[in-house]
Amino acid sequence: MRNLGILAHVDAGKTTVTERILYATGTTHKRGEVHDGTTVTDFDPQERDRGITIFAAAVTCDWDGHRINLIDTPGHVDFSDEVVRSLRVLDGAVAVFDAVAGVEPQSESVWRQADRFGVPRIAFVNKLDRAGADLDSAVASIRERLHPAPLVVQLPIGSEDRFEGVVDLLRMRAWVWADGRDGTGGAVEGPVPEALRAEAERRRRVLEEAVAELHPGALEEFCTRSTVSADTLAGALRDLTRTGDGVVVLCGSAYRNRGIEPLLDAVVAYLPSPLDVPAVRGTLDGAQQERAADPAAPFAALAFKVNATATGRLTYLRVYSGTIRKGEAVWDAGAGRTERVGRILRVRADRHAQVELAVAGDIVAVVGLKSARAGSTLCAPGAPLVLEPPATADPVVSVA
Ligand code: GDP
Repeated sequence: MRNLGILAHVDAGKTTVTERILYATGTTHKRGEVHDGTTVTDFDPQERDRGITIFAAAVTCDWDGHRINLIDTPGHVDFSDEVVRSLRVLDGAVAVFDAVAGVEPQSESVWRQADRFGVPRIAFVNKLDRAGADLDSAVASIRERLHPAPLVVQLPIGSEDRFEGVVDLLRMRAWVWADGRDGTGGAVEGPVPEALRAEAERRRRVLEEAVAELHPGALEEFCTRSTVSADTLAGALRDLTRTGDGVVVLCGSAYRNRGIEPLLDAVVAYLPSPLDVPAVRGTLDGAQQERAADPAAPFAALAFKVNATATGRLTYLRVYSGTIRKGEAVWDAGAGRTERVGRILRVRADRHAQVELAVAGDIVAVVGLKSARAGSTLCAPGAPLVLEPPATADPVVSVA
């Protein structure tokens, strides 16, 4: 499982990336377009009108045997209370950058907040098809303005209008996307084009050197000067992503549906599962407690979003420990009352799938809770844990 957020400056392409992820994972069968208001994560008509993702929604999709809960975080700085709340429930994020503009002010403020919450990130440099797109200068702006060491794992094939694919520098294989008849395209994997072989090998060495410097010991093979295997490199990149010492950088064009499959592979390879993250802390009868992501532990969850929908009042929950079943009672620590859980739903883009239970690590929407607000802790009535507020985020600085 991965609880994933997409973080970006408004207009960098967060909605389009989200949409293409839902499409690539088979969650939706028709591509939505921002400009015609058919995107799935932007539920609210007001959002569609404004083209800004105001209300976070969690959507579940599947990739390569993993369940990915996609938590859509608002990108507009005015709504950063919601950004903070959604950051709390993420275990990892994809930060989307515009390949022409590089790091922009809002991407910087969201990045800092994600630092505060210790959210491991990978970077996706989007819009490589645009005139003036430049992966190297976008990467330089990540290094200069956000400060982690960028670890670029792909080499673009073609540029601007002729951007057609990427070389995977770990496996030294090429991904090329062809435009399909219906405009959906498709990925074809093959050998590295001859003309790019030398450059790909040079960039592979740059990547190996950066990793060896940040993570001494991880690349023993490198020290002995033999070839570093893709798996060894991937393991080191996973460690660096989790410590935040480096950020894996991928690229593509969401609009043209290029680069999404390797991005999903990277989410699974580098970002942590809820079972890998440190235990959550809370207070129980005035005493500090830790709760690991264990389905057998007492139930504790955070309500991070409440939506009024045609289905009823939907309370989105991140379950940190224990198991919750349909019909069970929970203690709402914020309101100081017991409530009963009605239906439990997994939101699948265009439909709600009912499930019988949710376990530690899960993100689900619950129907039937009357008092829970965004930010409330819900827990087992016999073990009334209150989840600690996270380390305070920086006050948000408005950027004109
Ligand atoms: P958000 O504000 O970050 O959610 O960004 P959107 O997904 O709404 O995208 C903003 C604009 O950029 C829209 O007009 C998109 O169609 C466009 N866009 C998104 N991705 C790409 C891309 O890869 N290439 C190009 N050329 N345009 C894109």
